[in-house]
Amino acid sequence: MMTKKDELLFPWIESQIAEVLLKNNLQKKDLINLGIGDTCHSMPDCISKALHSATNLMSKKAIGYGPEQGRIELREKICSAVYQGFDFSKEEIFITEGIANSLSLLLDLFPDSSKIGVLSPTYPVYKTLIEATRKISIEVNANDNLDFYPPSEHLDCMILCSPNNPTGKAFSREGLREWIKWANDTGTLILYDGAYESFIFDTETPKSIFEITGAKTCAIELKSFSKSIGFSAMRLGYFVIAKELFLNRRNIREQALTLITAKTNGVSYLIQEAGIAALSPEGLKEIHTLSSNYMEMTKKLKTHLLSQNQQVIGGTHAPYLFWKIEGSCKEKFRTLLHDHLTITVPGIGFGREGYLRLSGFLNDDTLSRACSVLTSV
Ligand code: PLP
Repeated sequence: MMTKKDELLFPWIESQIAEVLLKNNLQKKDLINLGIGDTCHSMPDCISKALHSATNLMSKKAIGYGPEQGRIELREKICSAVYQGFDFSKEEIFITEGIANSLSLLLDLFPDSSKIGVLSPTYPVYKTLIEATRKISIEVNANDNLDFYPPSEHLDCMILCSPNNPTGKAFSREGLREWIKWANDTGTLILYDGAYESFIFDTETPKSIFEITGAKTCAIELKSFSKSIGFSAMRLGYFVIAKELFLNRRNIREQALTLITAKTNGVSYLIQEAGIAALSPEGLKEIHTLSSNYMEMTKKLKTHLLSQNQQVIGGTHAPYLFWKIEGSCKEKFRTLLHDHLTITVPGIGFGREGYLRLSGFLNDDTLSRACSVLTSV
């Protein structure tokens, strides 16, 4: 279980990095960064062209507030490019500034003290947001293989992340069916974080919770452009609420729109134009190339660690590896950082001691430096 002290881990990591940079008179780019899962490529051409032409248009004519729920062109593009065959319409799509923004809006659908389930280990921001919005977080722990099964109790809401950060593993079709049955039987609303969906390349693993029958009555899917096409600095995402979904017999779509309108008034026109370009044939090709490239890097890193007789899991459906280590993960983190100038993330930051998370968002140079360091430790 993550304690208040562990929640201070990320500032602690930053302070450790600052100490190493100062001591060695280095800049962050000199370190081998296997820490944060972020883009390491410049903006694709189709995105920069879309931004330029949107700016040109704005310099010629007045463009003001748009629909709070998001531009119709973008919502229609999401229906046709991402959810082809799922029978969604633009009324069921809500554009946001990314998953962090979607989550904080959606958690406001629940009254104070609602019970919100979170996986453990998982992305730590969920717990922070649950507590910041005065809800109670209930941890659902993974088994020894780092797989998850529904709890026996009723919860008001359950946040699922698939593929999961930090384990890089996705739910199987069978596993997801169990969660959906449980949610429909117990009246629990699932918030399904699909930030890493573009990294799933096999056809058997679900890329969307809506591939499973029964999901439309119990789940909201959250998606982001951050990981798939490097929009982390741009901020764009969306969530999908099917017409069939009701919370305590209330129509959640109306409530969600009220919250978006009151809290954000919608997302920047320019960034939404970039989002439309990301879902064009050229943009979708970029998503495919970037995602397969990061997965390739991750697989090479995993193969290297396995060849060194290390125990490492993940890297199958998201560019993250969870590396099992001896002893304290914070100690191992310190050794790698101070003695080998390599940034990792201690597993305790995600709720699990005894592991380090390694990111596969790498270029060739970082990968080869990482492999030489990870041979000598
Ligand atoms: N969801 C997961 C599982 C993540 O790991 C991250 C970022 O690392 C996010 C969401 C953040 O997404 P966004 O940039 O859309 O807010």
